[in-house]
Amino acid sequence: MQYKNKRDVLIVGGGTAGWMTAAALSRFLDPEHFRIRLVESDAIGTVGVGEATIPHIRQFNDMLGIDENEFMRATNATYKLGIQFHGWGDKDSSYVHPFGLCGHDINGVDFHHYWLRLHAEGKARSFGDYSFAVQAALAGKFDYPVSSSDGPRGEYGYAFHLDATLYAKFLRDYALARDVQRIEGKVVDTELNTSSGAIAAIKLDSGERLMAEIFVDCSGFRSLLLGQTLNVSYESWRHWLPCDRAVAVACEKVSAPHPYTQAFAHECGWRWRIPLTTRTGNGLVYQSQGMSDDEAASRLLAELDGPALGDPRVIRFETGKRDQCWAHNCIAIGLSSGFLEPLESTSIYLIQVAIQKLLEFFPGHEGVGVEREVYNSQMNLEYDRVRDFLILHYWLNRRDDSAFWRTCSAMELPESLTEKVNLFRTCGHVEQYRQGLFMPASWLAVYLGQGLIPERYDSRVNVPALADVERYLERVHKGCVAELRHLPSHAEALTKIKMGA
Ligand code: FAD
Repeated sequence: MQYKNKRDVLIVGGGTAGWMTAAALSRFLDPEHFRIRLVESDAIGTVGVGEATIPHIRQFNDMLGIDENEFMRATNATYKLGIQFHGWGDKDSSYVHPFGLCGHDINGVDFHHYWLRLHAEGKARSFGDYSFAVQAALAGKFDYPVSSSDGPRGEYGYAFHLDATLYAKFLRDYALARDVQRIEGKVVDTELNTSSGAIAAIKLDSGERLMAEIFVDCSGFRSLLLGQTLNVSYESWRHWLPCDRAVAVACEKVSAPHPYTQAFAHECGWRWRIPLTTRTGNGLVYQSQGMSDDEAASRLLAELDGPALGDPRVIRFETGKRDQCWAHNCIAIGLSSGFLEPLESTSIYLIQVAIQKLLEFFPGHEGVGVEREVYNSQMNLEYDRVRDFLILHYWLNRRDDSAFWRTCSAMELPESLTEKVNLFRTCGHVEQYRQGLFMPASWLAVYLGQGLIPERYDSRVNVPALADVERYLERVHKGCVAELRHLPSHAEALTKIKMGA
């Protein structure tokens, strides 16, 4: 292979972020013009957590031409229709945030306004009873959505629970087959270009010096290049997203896996349960100020539903992000650019968007300029939007059983979230973003699931007779129940994948 005159891209780090980046760049950058290399260190290893995804990952895999069933077998994946939240509104409350809609709009007015009218009359079922994804999840069933259907089967999406380490390995094989070069070694030093301040080269513990034109920092929480070398500062969001530790351990699988993640609130944070085909992933997220590591670990072990597979592992983090994800010739992707916490499983999504935007705004030969600014402002928006949605879960609690939850409900919200909440609180509307997460259906699930009922609803829903609204909603609910009968169980759906069907 001739490398002369090729543009050099060097990825530092081989976790999920590094190998997702390598796979996508190898798929979309012309090998005639680019050389892609990835440095990773087996001695350092990866963060080793991250098992839940959101539906966008399917788009990423499609983009790479990956066969979904092959990917599921390689990563021990199960299907995910949403997240069940226990104890986030008041202590005994429970709701599901589904990947999908609750009913359709009528005459341009969103379904939930009709629900609000019926709810005000005391005649509505719980909001999730009108969502096919919620009903399928709780019944332990799964089948693919039917995009051509205008009934319940056309109203939902799905994601996966997976072993992220196996996903990185799967993508590594993909990238290596497309000429990405893997270099084993520990980065011990970095050289800057004295005139421009850009990164010129990195040095490995072997003494090898690697130069490149573009550096992608996928070094995880260390943020070796963007944070440590280029000194891009970190904006802490601890005052909004207060948890700063997680303790994680997998346990044996003792029952058929649910097609949803579970998130149980506790006095000082929350706990996840994520079912894979081979094991169940568990973790307890907490604020270190209110709970010690030992307490968190013993609490987690006591709440496992099967024997633990190994010892619990504590991971420290600070929620927030770097001021810019791209500085000089260095783009940070993954934990090196920021971390919001595992709630709502958005990190792999943020990696994916960062990669897609990098491809879109890929720097030209002549160096970087406006594309870097656009990239940074779009990534900032992505982070801010996810942040606001996560804060909502903490702020909108009605628990009085601990200082942690009382502090959360009293916190001052970012302005962007205050506006959004005020809009919903006064008239029941949710603004649709043109870019970034989350869709109105997701906001509604949390608002209503955690007990925020708006002061009024869209007045147009008062036009039909109440009995007609009641009949319509009942039809939506019955449509979900009827359709559910035809669905295989989640376990049956997974068996088909395993058997290679
Ligand atoms: P890492 O996995 O840490 O990889 C860093 C890489 O850099 C490694 O290969 C390492 O060897 C290399 N490296 C570092 N320093 C050097 C050096 N000096 N020389 C050479 N190589 C070096 N995300 C989700 O989407 N869903 C979830 O459910 C989810 N749950 C999470 C739960 C917790 C508690 C945490 C902390 C995170 C979770 N995440 C989740 C986030 C997810 O784990 C990460 O986004 C994802 O794993 C990507 O990590 P990374 O590749 O950026 O970093």
